[in-house]
Amino acid sequence: MAQGKVLLQMLKEFEEKGYSVQYKLLDAKDYGVPQTRTRVFIIGIRSDLDLEFTYPKKTHGFRLKPYRTVREAIWKFRSDPGIHYKGEAKRPFLTDGYSEDFKSRQRKLAWDLPSAPIIATIWNIPLHPDGKPMKKVAQRKYEFDGKINRTLSIKEVLAIQSFPDDYIVKGSLIERYRQVGNAVPFILSKKLAVTVKKCLDGIKIDLCSYCNKTQEIKEVIFIDAKFTLSKSCACKNCFQTQLRTSWEAHDPIKVIIKS
Ligand SMILES: [Zn+2]
Repeated sequence: MAQGKVLLQMLKEFEEKGYSVQYKLLDAKDYGVPQTRTRVFIIGIRSDLDLEFTYPKKTHGFRLKPYRTVREAIWKFRSDPGIHYKGEAKRPFLTDGYSEDFKSRQRKLAWDLPSAPIIATIWNIPLHPDGKPMKKVAQRKYEFDGKINRTLSIKEVLAIQSFPDDYIVKGSLIERYRQVGNAVPFILSKKLAVTVKKCLDGIKIDLCSYCNKTQEIKEVIFIDAKFTLSKSCACKNCFQTQLRTSWEAHDPIKVIIKS
């Protein structure tokens, strides 16, 4: 958007609010979703936590597992696809119920490739792979060919977005396609969420014994000359300032910092 200016502005504002921010363009098909779908994912971690976040590794593609295909996702629904948009004209300026640019591209999916992106508008949902592909009649102009040309059903778009088979969306037909099309693919969002969770695991947010603020704290155990233990919790700031004196008064080998 606006040649990346919007993204840069967002990153700047997050950083000003104290987050260390990364962004990356991910393609859902690289993570086992049967759909080519590229989206930017922005991850911000509170700067004071000093953590390193790494995006999940690709699992599918060149030298990895093969991309998942439309066939793997929706073949099983072939005899019972459930409710789907029938292309009825809902808006006066549409002649056949599809959007103005629907026929500017090949919208018929191929069984053995990942799907085209599932988008949020009912007039732009890709066509089920059965029947003949659309026929190119001019530059950016395709026509339906053969008798079998139907929009993917709700069950099918859910499966291509990698939702579990028993997942239910509610609302009008337009509303259901919109929810599914706007969703982050199930498998990809789960992988990202697990990666974020792993990155945050083990982080203790607690009260610092010195400044009494809620901070990431570390437990420090001092062993003095009489071999008695004393424990302290300190945030990064207090650790470097207040604790410094106690630290220096002890034999460094006898200071244990539990992270
Ligand atoms: Zn502190």
